Formats: sequence, C-alpha cells, structure tokens
Amino acid sequence: MALNHQPFHQKYRPTKFDELIGQDFIALTLKQALLTNKIAPAYLFCGPRGTGKTSSARILAKSLNCLKHNEPNPSPCNYCELCKNINNGLALDIIEIDAASNTGVENIREIIEKANFAPTQARWKVYVIDECHMLSTAASNALLKTIEEPPERVVFILATTNPERVLQTIQSRCQKFDFKRINTEHIYKHLLNIANKESIHFEDSGIKLIAKRSNGGMRDAQRLLDQLSLAPNGITKNNVENLLGEVSEVDLIKVFNSLINNVPESLIKTCSELYDDGNEPIAILEGLLNITRDLLLKTVQDDYTDLFYTSKEFQTELDKMSNLISKSKIIDWHCYLKNLEYQIKNSGQPRLWLEINLTSLLDLENKKGIDYNKDGKTSRFNSDRDNNSKNQKDLISEVKNIRPKEKIIVNEVIQNNQEQSIVINQINKTVDDESINLKEKWALILSKLELPSTRMLLSQQAELMGIQSNIVEIGLSPNWENMIKSRKVVIESAVKKIFGEQMSIKFLPKSDNKFKLTNVNKDPSDNDSNAIITNNLTHSNTSNNNPRSEKLNDLNNHKTLDESSSKNLADFFNGEIIDNHE
Ligand SMILES: [Zn+2]
Repeated sequence: MALNHQPFHQKYRPTKFDELIGQDFIALTLKQALLTNKIAPAYLFCGPRGTGKTSSARILAKSLNCLKHNEPNPSPCNYCELCKNINNGLALDIIEIDAASNTGVENIREIIEKANFAPTQARWKVYVIDECHMLSTAASNALLKTIEEPPERVVFILATTNPERVLQTIQSRCQKFDFKRINTEHIYKHLLNIANKESIHFEDSGIKLIAKRSNGGMRDAQRLLDQLSLAPNGITKNNVENLLGEVSEVDLIKVFNSLINNVPESLIKTCSELYDDGNEPIAILEGLLNITRDLLLKTVQDDYTDLFYTSKEFQTELDKMSNLISKSKIIDWHCYLKNLEYQIKNSGQPRLWLEINLTSLLDLENKKGIDYNKDGKTSRFNSDRDNNSKNQKDLISEVKNIRPKEKIIVNEVIQNNQEQSIVINQINKTVDDESINLKEKWALILSKLELPSTRMLLSQQAELMGIQSNIVEIGLSPNWENMIKSRKVVIESAVKKIFGEQMSIKFLPKSDNKFKLTNVNKDPSDNDSNAIITNNLTHSNTSNNNPRSEKLNDLNNHKTLDESSSKNLADFFNGEIIDNHE
C-alpha cells in the first residue's frame, strides 16, 4: 500500500528548542522560563511566515506536558504518548485554532471561554491561535477577558504575521517574541541536511538558490526542496529558476551585454528568444532590475555576500559588466527600468513595452554620450567606443616610438583634440535627443488628461523639463504659473498613470531658451509679469475695471471653455501660440 508522502516541512519540523533554527534568543528565553517555572498566561509570537512560530508553540506545549518529566522541562522526550499526540496535532488539551480560516470562526469564542475547564489529559491546557489578528471582535473580547484573569494551568500562544493588527489591549497582556527571518546560510545548511538524508540528487548552486529565494522562511524553502526533489535530474539551478519563474542569469547576461555593447539587433533577438522560451516580460524586467541593483552594490562592496541577489557563480560576469559601466549609468538604468515596471504590469502588450523601452535605453546611451568609464579620465563615448579604442591603440604604438618628453606632449594634444571634438558633438546630440525624448513623454502625460482645456493649456504653457528618480519636473510659462498650479492634482494623477504611484510633480519656471515669450510690454524695469498681463488686457478690454481677475476667473471655470476659446485666450495673453512641436 502506497503511503502518503509526508511533506518535508512536517517531517523535519523542529521537535525541541535546540533544533529551532535561527531563533536562538527566543529558544534561550523560553527554555529559561521553563527551567525557572515562570510560565506566562499568554505569549505573542510575531514574525514572517515559516520562521518557526507554530513549531515553537508546539515545543512549548510539549515542554509543559511531557510525561517523562513531572514539571515543565525544556527538553521534551518526543516519545511519550502526549509528546507524540502533540507532534501529530492530536492532543485534546492542546487546541490549535487557525483564526484566518473560515471553519468554525463562530465557535472560537466558545472555545476560548472553555479555557476555564481543567485539562483532561495533560497538565497544562495550551491554546495556539494562529493568525490571531484575524479573530472576530467577539472572539477577541472573550480572549481579552480570559487572559485578564487567567485560569490555572492555561497558556495562550498567539501567533501572527501582522502584530500591528492585534489589539493593543491583548498585546499588553502577552509576553511578546519577535521571530526573525532565518539567515540564508542556516536555511542552506538545513536543506543540505535534508537533501542528504533523503538521497536527493542535487547541485549545490541549486540548493543555495532555494535558500536565497525563500526570503528567510524555512517552510517555503522546504516546500521548494520537496517539490524540486521530484524533478528527474534533481535539484539543479536551472530547475529552481524554472519553478520560480525566474529568467536565468545566463540569459540576463545576454540582454545586459547587448545593452552595454549597444547592439539593438542582438537586444531584440535576445528578448524575443527569452519570450519564446516562456519568460514573462515582467520577469525579464525584474531580472534586469536585480542585476542593476547588484552592479550598484558591486561599486561599494567587492566581496560576494548574501546581499547579492545573483549567485556567486555570476560574480565574474558582474565584475566584467561593472568595469564597463559607471555608477551614474547604473543608477540611470535602474531608475528607468523601475519606472517601466508599472507600465509593463498595466499594459495589454507587455512584450512590446519591454522591447521598445529597452531599445530606448540603448538610444539613451548613444545620446547621452557622457563618459561612462569608471576612472572618469578618458573621455571615450560609447557610440564611438570601437573606433576610439582602435585609434587609441594606433596612437599608443605611434607614441611608443617618440622620445619621452615629446611623448607626453603628443599624448596630451591627441587626447585634448579627441576629447573636445567628441564632447562638442555629443553635447549637441544630447540636447536634441533628450528634448525629443522628453517631448514624447510629455505627449504621453498630456494624453492622460481628461479635460481638453487642461490638455491644451499644458501643451502650450508648460513642458516636461526632466524626470528625476521620483519627481517629474514641469516647466511653466511665468504668466500661467498660478492657473497651471491650481490643476496640480489632475496633472499629478496623469503623471502617476504613466510613471507609477510613487511619482510626484514639481513646478519650475520654463527654461528661457525654450520659452519664446513675445510679450507686448518689454520694459526691462518691469519685472512683474502680472503687470504685463494687466497692461496687455487693458488694451482690448477697456470697459472692465479689473479685467485680469475676471479673465482669470473665467479661465478657472475651465469646464465652460472649449479648445478653441482656450486657444484664443492663450493667443490673446501671449501674443503667440507656443507650439512645442515646432
Ligand atoms: Zn514526552
């Protein structure tokens, strides 16, 4: 007869405090409480899932009741009838309640109220209430009442992943223990131990990856190990990546190299291959984000530690990449990719978004053209990288034949000339391309504005000046500043639709070279732009005593304005419609 497979997280659950992994301080304190017979009426175990809360509760219950000892003892035998029953969840006096599940929620209050009856088999009655923050109000009140006047030999162990949602009155009556995420190294060792005991075929890197990805939760780690042990070729790194839906590091290197080497064809091809292999665009993006994070980490920490998301085997590649790009560029890429995350998640065509945006990252590289080399001294530009390195090699060999003093001068001259011409070319290019890019993004923001009048106003009197990590900078024509600012909420919500909830907007004066204001009044002594409007208006609206305020009020009631009238007004105010697209 085939027996049911016992999951690893049950089979290898710690049975005594000494086996509890990664919670040394808690184990020590509870052991001490048992040895000194200072048992609290209620304990609150807080911490992420799979960190040993329920296991600790069961160990505590056994320690209180083990038949081998006459008194509470921190080392339960695990063999006596009561220990066995508790291990299997069958002991009558150890009541485990899952407050999160729906079964019998109505009865929880009654169950708690029965705490006043003496235990039937055991010495101590133990209530283990899992996810106790989910208790109903009635149950919470019953619980509160019971732990306020605790019956003899009853212990409540409340476990929760959300301690802040547990009633303060309950918290203050419990001894609180914070379970920490378990260290990756500890998880790795434990998994290795299980794999050996179970004679599972495994790659060391596979087990390491499971440990790394389980976020400090032992149960998740064991569950993954369990599932992967069924794979025909055992626990390989590749299998782990597949199960987790992650893009393999080898594939991510390809994408990254295409970006660094600036090869659009290879970038699109790699993306497409990845997609065809079943990788989701969002997973590709997340992979790239994690690599940029690691590259950034690399700039401050050279030795491999658990802090790195990528595996140790990946470090050589990471080294190579970090030699090719500078910190500022990594940050640029990271911010760009981070903004993309929201768009991809909300897009009906995530693949398209990813490809287009990754390609534009490539363009950015060409366009920005700033020196991204690490030392910051040699001004080579990525777009000209190949030619340049060739030229430099030639120059170096030439220079070798020249006498030392001349050599230095020649070197300098060559470098200076190269630098200057490249810098000039690149600066021109950068200005052009970046402004085009901003214009596209601005158009995208405008498209999310619902009111045509607002859209019209912004398209003429404001422009996108730049996007910092969380701030979208919008330049305003001085005369329209107040009116545009009064629509901040609407504009901000449009920005958030495109770039994500974390973004906020900042208004700046429109940059001078781009702002082609042709005001009638050009008296240099008159710095007050309001005066300009007043003067301007009085020209054609002489009958009105306070034309400016009325006109502005009129504009504020923007619902009544159609596109043409707002255009007329704009025309009227500035003497010229400023067209961003010219
Ligand atoms: Zn026992």
